[in-house]
Amino acid sequence: MNQDLPSSKYDRQERLLIWDQKIIENSTILIAGVGGTGSEVCKNLTLMGIGHLILVDVDTIEFSNLNRQLLFQEEDIGKKKAEIAKGRLCDLNPSVKVEDYSILLQNLPQSVFEKVDIIAGCVDNYLARQYLNSIAIEMNKPFVDSATEGFLGQIQYVKARETACLACDNPPPPDETRNLSAPCTLVGKPRIREHCAWKALYDFNELLNREPNDSSSSDILKLTKIANQHAKKNNFAVFDKKELLQLVLFHVPSLITVNAVISGFQSQEIIKGLFLEQKLALPEKERNTLENLISSQRFSIPSYLIYSALSGTITTFDLTPDLDCMVCKKPDSSLKHLLEVNIDRKASFKVLIDKFRMKNGKEYVAFRGNTLLPEEGIIEKLISDKDRVTLSSLHDKEEIRIKIIFTTKKRKRKKKRRKRT
Ligand SMILES: [Zn+2]
Repeated sequence: MNQDLPSSKYDRQERLLIWDQKIIENSTILIAGVGGTGSEVCKNLTLMGIGHLILVDVDTIEFSNLNRQLLFQEEDIGKKKAEIAKGRLCDLNPSVKVEDYSILLQNLPQSVFEKVDIIAGCVDNYLARQYLNSIAIEMNKPFVDSATEGFLGQIQYVKARETACLACDNPPPPDETRNLSAPCTLVGKPRIREHCAWKALYDFNELLNREPNDSSSSDILKLTKIANQHAKKNNFAVFDKKELLQLVLFHVPSLITVNAVISGFQSQEIIKGLFLEQKLALPEKERNTLENLISSQRFSIPSYLIYSALSGTITTFDLTPDLDCMVCKKPDSSLKHLLEVNIDRKASFKVLIDKFRMKNGKEYVAFRGNTLLPEEGIIEKLISDKDRVTLSSLHDKEEIRIKIIFTTKKRKRKKKRRKRT
């Protein structure tokens, strides 16, 4: 190697006062959503030399992605985003380990979340963000959420029970307020007409294991047919295709510059979060510098940041945690409600909900706050936090912890014996 070259390709960042490349190299970041913001975050972390990236995105690459999603090219249209991104990132920096999951977030095994240091949310829909929020709280992992819409972008940093979470007294955008009732709707009877549209979207996903494509007339026809079956069954007026598309498949306007700014902020807060979380692993000099920066208030992670490309302004807020938040309130207060339910290991989620309703006299319930769950979900698949589950009554926002006692034992897989020859 030329003697004039620095010994490390990370030399410039390693010169920073609080930098420790080892912390970056030993870290695992889960990136949910490899779209406009997510692909930029992946690129930033890869070039910085992160140790391990886990990409989760169920979507395939569309023509309209190509103006802002730098990891994809025209030849990739129709292929899985997570898979293609993995290949491009490994080309950018072969020392980064990349894992890809082209599945719905809700189907990602809990064991994957367990091994990550920070969860980065780069998804474009409110319910997926709420899911990440609740799982991050449950597993005590820092969560950096981002969202963009046209000229606006925002970041929220969530640290379980230290900062406000996404569900803390933080009203959702008005257009999406009605959609929030989707979780209870998916496990019960639709209460308003729009719930039928959400049920149809979920049914479509379950049937075909993918999102409907809003430029495919057969997908839209199928979705409308399912929604209208629910509507007719529950005595609501039927939907026309356009109305249904607006309700469930809205694509928000997006701008590459806003994605770049927001992904830059998000990547930065992820790196700061890593240093903060692993402060004790920093070399003494770097640790002292970091402590000094924190005590002099020159280092902090804002809990909420809004960027407006229209006015060129950045505004940060410190959000106060809501003590009654149904997702992040301290578990002690709800433990007194611990409710035991005996259930078959292979029972459906609906059976659990019905038992819960009968025992507790509640009409509407949700699982893990605002998490989407299929009515057909098998309990065993859903419960990964040992044998506990948290249910909430949306009716009075009361959280109740449930202990599930399985009446059937888990079957052990038989080891295959090799035949002797
Ligand atoms: Zn909260």
